[in-house]
Amino acid sequence: MKRNNNRTAIVVGAGLGGIATAIGLRLQGYQVQIWDRNEKGGGKLQEWKKEGYRWDLGPSLLTMPEVLNDWFRLADRRIEDYLTLVPLENTCRYFWQDGKIIDEDDSFWKNPEVQSLLKYGEGIYQLSGKAYLNHPPSEFWRAFHWRNWKDLKHLPKLMSLLTLAQVVEKKIKDPYLRQLFCRYATYNGSSPYLTPSTFLIIPYVEAHFGGWYVKGGMRKLAEAFERIAMEEGVEFNYSQEAIRYENKKITSHQGIGATPDLLICNGEAIRTANTLLKGCYTEKEKNTINKPSLSSSGFIILLGVRGENKELKHHNISFTRNYPEEFKSIFEKKELPHDPTIYISITKREEGGDAPEGCENWFVLVNAPAKTNFSEEESENYREKVIQELRNRKLLLPSQRIEISRQIHAGEIAKRDLTTEGALYGWASHSIATSLFRPAMKHPREEIYFVGGSTHPGGGIPLVLLSAKMICEKILKNFS
Ligand SMILES: Cc1cc2nc3c(=O)[nH]c(=O)nc-3n(C[C@H](O)[C@H](O)[C@H](O)COP(=O)(O)OP(=O)(O)OC[C@H]3O[C@@H](n4cnc5c(N)ncnc54)[C@H](O)[C@@H]3O)c2cc1C
Repeated sequence: MKRNNNRTAIVVGAGLGGIATAIGLRLQGYQVQIWDRNEKGGGKLQEWKKEGYRWDLGPSLLTMPEVLNDWFRLADRRIEDYLTLVPLENTCRYFWQDGKIIDEDDSFWKNPEVQSLLKYGEGIYQLSGKAYLNHPPSEFWRAFHWRNWKDLKHLPKLMSLLTLAQVVEKKIKDPYLRQLFCRYATYNGSSPYLTPSTFLIIPYVEAHFGGWYVKGGMRKLAEAFERIAMEEGVEFNYSQEAIRYENKKITSHQGIGATPDLLICNGEAIRTANTLLKGCYTEKEKNTINKPSLSSSGFIILLGVRGENKELKHHNISFTRNYPEEFKSIFEKKELPHDPTIYISITKREEGGDAPEGCENWFVLVNAPAKTNFSEEESENYREKVIQELRNRKLLLPSQRIEISRQIHAGEIAKRDLTTEGALYGWASHSIATSLFRPAMKHPREEIYFVGGSTHPGGGIPLVLLSAKMICEKILKNFS
């Protein structure tokens, strides 16, 4: 299928979306270069190793593996030659501070209240899968094709003004399950009390396609895509930050310049519009992109723990006592939550070598405001507070001792990934407009395209890969 079309493309950013787009364009015959400011590819898919421990620093759960398979088929590769995907029997264990525990396993999804919510999400998936997830917003009309007439009955759900929390409250009586389902809003960095109920597609997808882990660590995903790109002849330029784009010429911080036929930006669309492409937008366009509120960031703590707590699974969530107050802190007060919901991932459960004998590698994540002006003292105090919470909630046992501890706050995330105030997903999805019509995938006038978590259809590994697929199809259509 590969042709040489004598056209050149530069992809700025070696996140998963950027590398996948580079592969797709190479398969269309483009000469493709990737520039990334970091020393390694993968963007948010990084890892850290110290004294016999290994931690994933970004995503920890893979959903919709079929999207991944599609990319391997497109590149004419066998996925098993590059990756081993491990299905999780228990996707997450949820803890409440009153002692209640729920496991997200097969029997959980069969609960009748849960089933009614899944049915709701299934309808959204059936309709939006055809329109929204596989096509850019300009092609929403596809949803109205006569072949979809059966699924069109779900349209009111897609356009509903109800929030995710409101629909959960209507469908579910059990207060524990209510809180559990509200947490799916955080998959795109939003509040369940503001995000549209459309996002009930997320639990449906998790139930239907399962939760997965990538053997060897989530970074293996990025490495597999990087390997295919290299085999196909994509040129990688690391430690090269694109700082200026003027008169179709892109320039790096070392003064290296190029005038590609196509520019693809994989960095966060908001920051890219305000920095690299600031000369390409009118003030009005910049105001539009800067106006919506930002998604949440994260406060991450990596712990090397001597001793084991067998009650903890691979993925665990310990809930706050007051969920509305937590989201108010993050999105209104812009403060680190006082009584946070705490996520703990221990890959040692899957991967014996990720921590020394008798030890555990804890990746601890608290949802945090997109705000970078924390002092080191504040960051240190908050780390202490979260560790104390882990002890109070009996997740970190008296018999367990912390050997290694490192925290990563929004400021560091902003610097590493070049994101606005450390936001993980660009805009928060706090309205139908900001959920369905995210920053555009193409510049209104120039041959500049956008791929990745801050553009359409949204953040998370599968969506970013769908975004790359859509960009490649759009470019193929525009130039053939
Ligand atoms: C803590 C955390 C937990 C997460 N958990 C999950 C999860 O469990 N499951 C899931 O599916 N998703 C999860 N995600 C989201 C997922 O990681 C992202 O949506 C996805 O990896 C983003 O990919 P991307 O293609 O948008 O690129 P990114 O990973 O954002 O990479 C963009 C790259 O562009 C580079 N760049 C930007 N501007 C420039 C420039 N001017 N010059 C050079 N280089 C530039 C950056 O350095 C970066 O390397 C999580 C994210 C985080 C941070």
